[in-house]
Amino acid sequence: MKFYITTPIYYVNDIPHIGHSYTTIVADIVARWKRLNSFDVYFLTGTDEHGAKIAEVAKAKGKKPQEFCDEMSAKFRATWKLLNISNDGFIRTTEYRHFIAVENIVQILFDKGLIFKKKYGGMYCIGCEKFFAKKDLDKNGHCPFHKTKPILQSEENYFFKLSFFKDALLERITDVNHKEYINILPEERKNEIVGKLKLGLEDVSFSRSTIEWGIPLFFDKSQTVYVWADALINYITAVGYPSDETKFKNYWPADVHLMAKDILWFHSVVWPAILMGAQLPLPKTIYSHGFFTLNGNKMSKSLGNVISPQKLVENYGVDATRYLVVTLIPFGHDGDISWQGLTLKYNTDLANNLGNLISRTLKVAEKNFNLKAPQAVLNLDFVKNVEKKLKESFAYNMDNFQLHKAVENLQSAITLVNIQIEVDAPWKLAKTDKSKLAMCIFSYLQAIDIIAMYLLSFMPSLAERIWQITGASGNISDITKKYFTNGIIPEGGFSVSGTDLKPPGVLFPRIL
Ligand SMILES: [Zn+2]
Repeated sequence: MKFYITTPIYYVNDIPHIGHSYTTIVADIVARWKRLNSFDVYFLTGTDEHGAKIAEVAKAKGKKPQEFCDEMSAKFRATWKLLNISNDGFIRTTEYRHFIAVENIVQILFDKGLIFKKKYGGMYCIGCEKFFAKKDLDKNGHCPFHKTKPILQSEENYFFKLSFFKDALLERITDVNHKEYINILPEERKNEIVGKLKLGLEDVSFSRSTIEWGIPLFFDKSQTVYVWADALINYITAVGYPSDETKFKNYWPADVHLMAKDILWFHSVVWPAILMGAQLPLPKTIYSHGFFTLNGNKMSKSLGNVISPQKLVENYGVDATRYLVVTLIPFGHDGDISWQGLTLKYNTDLANNLGNLISRTLKVAEKNFNLKAPQAVLNLDFVKNVEKKLKESFAYNMDNFQLHKAVENLQSAITLVNIQIEVDAPWKLAKTDKSKLAMCIFSYLQAIDIIAMYLLSFMPSLAERIWQITGASGNISDITKKYFTNGIIPEGGFSVSGTDLKPPGVLFPRIL
């Protein structure tokens, strides 16, 4: 089975912040989870590089647009490397392969009469790169996202006959039994889309005559393809459209497009319409998440309160950053975060619960078993109980992007082992019952291994480190794949009796 997951391609006018990082980390965790469940995964991210805003920012910095895009796109790639993102593809809209894909789509739509010339005027927000209807502006007549006054622009453009697709879109978005059903999530935002669609659908500008930094329209070189149409097509370019038919057939349609809520309309209405126009299959799920506020305030450059991924990593390390950002708000919804909240979660979940579990298990093993996995039988009932905490709903939560709930499943498994340690009191057993002590430690080690396998998608480096600490055999990814397929705990355990354990050191130093 294949699984094609995308983040939006990020607009290079800005450096990567927590918003980009959030979407990308969520996509990465799910991509890793699917790979561990033996899916043939293609995980795509990239950068969106055309449009007036880019040309403007580049000019202000005294740079050529391409030069500016190269620098900014590299910053995104460096950030994803820092965050241990496992994307299979990275696409830039200034790549030649993308020009070819866009030209192909434009040709098809043009030949079908779905693109036509029209004089157009309206309120244009450069920040959004889009025209606004008066009713969509806020009460001050400003862009609701940028809080700036749009400029009045009039030009002759080519338009895409979006209105033609209204009924077809409504069917595909609302009828779960439709063979081209598009699952838009969360439900309440899907309802907004449906409501807006029912009110009617206007044709949209497909090209701009005043913007040079873009892909020229092949039949009218005085125009460039509207940056939104150009950007959306990236999802098919990246999987081989139109030249690599095998790759394209293998991965398209996308299983999930992830994005923030401000670009949901384009993804759930304009994009499927373009695809229908070109007679290509439609994405299966389109899932939008909410916006973050910091201590109740919108994050913005002007307020100087934007959280950078670098700062998060500096504070918490890479693995903990990946873990923390997805736990703080339910995916799909808006949420407020704070540094205090992040630190509290770090201390509670990681330093106290997980860190403590590993450090005390290893301490007893060091004191009593010479830092080797003890010779003992497994307390299978206990290990099965830990397993149960994870088996019941973890997979469902992961498959449905409820990562904050999957993390709760993990924490409850960790807590269960910590409670068992309190009950067993190994420090007392060390004096009274060495063979029971051996069984306890041996069983804790197996439980920790199981927890590590479930943690692997969230905290890949940490899970690997735990695997070494507990002396578990084999490559953690390979063993996890096997275990997720057959559900079998090997008879001698994952950490085999007699193997060397490693002193864990301090996995999560407490942050004050
Ligand atoms: Zn705007």
